[in-house]
Amino acid sequence: DAEADAEADAEPEGSGAANTHVVAHHYNELKEAGRRERHKSKIYFMRNFNNWIKSQLINEYMALIKNQKRVGDALRVLDMCCGKGGDLLKWDKALISHLICTDIADVSVEQCQRRYQDILQRAEKSKYGHKFTAEFFACDSTMVRLRERYKDASLQLNLVSCQFAFHYCFESLSQADCMMRNAAECLEPGGYFIATIPDAYEIMRRLKAAGPDARRFGNDVYSIEFEDDMMTEAPPLFGAKYQFHLEGVVDCPEFLVHFPTLVKLGRKHGLQLIRRSTFADYYKETMPQGRQLLQRMSGLESVQANRCANDEQFKHVAKAFGAQRGRPLGTLSKSEWEATTLYLVCAFKKCKNSWDA
Ligand code: SAM
Repeated sequence: DAEADAEADAEPEGSGAANTHVVAHHYNELKEAGRRERHKSKIYFMRNFNNWIKSQLINEYMALIKNQKRVGDALRVLDMCCGKGGDLLKWDKALISHLICTDIADVSVEQCQRRYQDILQRAEKSKYGHKFTAEFFACDSTMVRLRERYKDASLQLNLVSCQFAFHYCFESLSQADCMMRNAAECLEPGGYFIATIPDAYEIMRRLKAAGPDARRFGNDVYSIEFEDDMMTEAPPLFGAKYQFHLEGVVDCPEFLVHFPTLVKLGRKHGLQLIRRSTFADYYKETMPQGRQLLQRMSGLESVQANRCANDEQFKHVAKAFGAQRGRPLGTLSKSEWEATTLYLVCAFKKCKNSWDA
């Protein structure tokens, strides 16, 4: 950890952003599957489960923020690396007042903006619809100071969310430092930064378990493969690159996140770590409050309503909900469970200054 401290304290210089264009290209090219296609996917239940985890996390910290506020106070959120806007409905349900969405993949940002317009139109038609303002721009959060792109650079945020993306900045210290500053600098004291990232300890544990000379591990829905030069010594704090493949969704380079370094970087920017939970633990902890939402999101109702699933899939879902035996989560296959338990959730609280953090 002394090494981590020294690296994180050092002034960022230069940049090793050799992979960001590969990542941007990958996500820009990704086609959004229709509902029917999604139902057929081998990771259908895992995607629903991951969505549920994000909902639980967002709801947990939005509730804490609302406790500090009065009814009618503005609630402002930054969705950093928003992708195609998979969390827009969550922000809508959280009754926020303003949202900033940004991602390196411009095609995704455009799609996100279109989804927002749809939500807004629906709200306008409905008597009780909730409306929130939003701004969108494409940029690399590891290289650009986001506040300079906001419509109001003095804007104070209540929540920053970075879902399944913060690990991309661990390509180099300067990128990680820039992304952490973006997460922290506009948060008002008492605000939160929440994220979901791969758990580097779990990745290294599975790599070791795969055998002394193994470079690759995984199953029929995901795989992680390291390059040869990563295998000779302990992984570096930054640039510990591996190729991540997730059935039909991800196929691009990612970086191990050395957790003590992440915490140290957070502290530098006034963020204090208040939660680090693996998905498996977070599921156990929040399941009692989130059971109904999970059942809805796990698709039992939508599978029934849309009659998209084949009979076999439907029987499988129905049976799983009837008797939650054997599997950690009724509907997830073993392969999906192995893939989702690669991740962890973390949350940081913004302090008045970095000394407090
Ligand atoms: N947060 C979204 C969600 O949960 O649905 C999208 C997650 S997707 C797995 C990762 C996203 O991170 C992609 O949309 C990708 O374009 C974005 N991303 C990766 N590197 C980035 C960077 N340097 N700056 C901004 N966005 C980045």
